[in-house]
Amino acid sequence: KLVSRELHPKPSIIHVGDVAVGGDRLVVIAGPCGVEDRKRTLEIARAVRKCGAVLFRGGAFKPRTSPYSFQGLGEEGLKILSEVRDETGMGVVTEMTSPSQADLMMKYVDVVQIGARNMQNFELLKCVGRLGKPVLLKRGLSATIEEWLMSAEYILSEGNDQVMLCERGIRTFERYTRNTLDLTAVPVIKKLTHLPIIIDPSHATGIREMVSPMARAAIAAGADGLTIEVHTEPEKALSDGPQSLYPEQFEQLMRDLYVIAPVV
Ligand code: PEP
Ligand code: MN
Repeated sequence: KLVSRELHPKPSIIHVGDVAVGGDRLVVIAGPCGVEDRKRTLEIARAVRKCGAVLFRGGAFKPRTSPYSFQGLGEEGLKILSEVRDETGMGVVTEMTSPSQADLMMKYVDVVQIGARNMQNFELLKCVGRLGKPVLLKRGLSATIEEWLMSAEYILSEGNDQVMLCERGIRTFERYTRNTLDLTAVPVIKKLTHLPIIIDPSHATGIREMVSPMARAAIAAGADGLTIEVHTEPEKALSDGPQSLYPEQFEQLMRDLYVIAPVV
């Protein structure tokens, strides 16, 4: 298999502009769950950039559990993300939910995220495999590591080897946290594949207070980076407010991370 470490012993480094994911420095992706409006998004972008985030996240197409929840701004949201890139220099990461969004992704985005709910949407995987843009592939809610790697294989088999894996918590019997962060995925992924691994403690825990401890643990375990939800007024967020860090908390986390490992 193309994802296999046996075939490719050297860790892969994924380049997003001048940011190298999978090298010897941690990469921190930060931003709101969804792009809500221009002013808010730029405000959050400036805040996370100041703290040391090098890539910006924000969904314009939101795969919500309920069809009545905020669905994202679509192309308008992607234009706002482009503006974030122009102003701050951060590359932008956003979720693609359908192959019909391919042209928009090519035009506006630096890293295409495949969400947990679409990890086994094979037509979508083949489509991003052909786009040739870096991909952040989230682990499915109930996917085994083997299944997750086979999904990555779909992308690589189409000729795109710029894949980063993202562990975002899995479904277990435990209901205290939103999901259960499977940190064993870090050493398992390092053993099985050359692809880098990013940890998402925000969706894994669903609880703001638990994001920083899990982020630190992930880095101590050897993860290549983090993706963190940050919002300047989480109580007003249109999605995932309860797990979004205040900028002050994000700033403290970044300071704590430097103690554990070098950050980009
Ligand atoms: C997200 O990153 O905003 C998201 C929807 O994550 P997941 O697909 O992991 O639930
Ligand atoms: Mn979210």
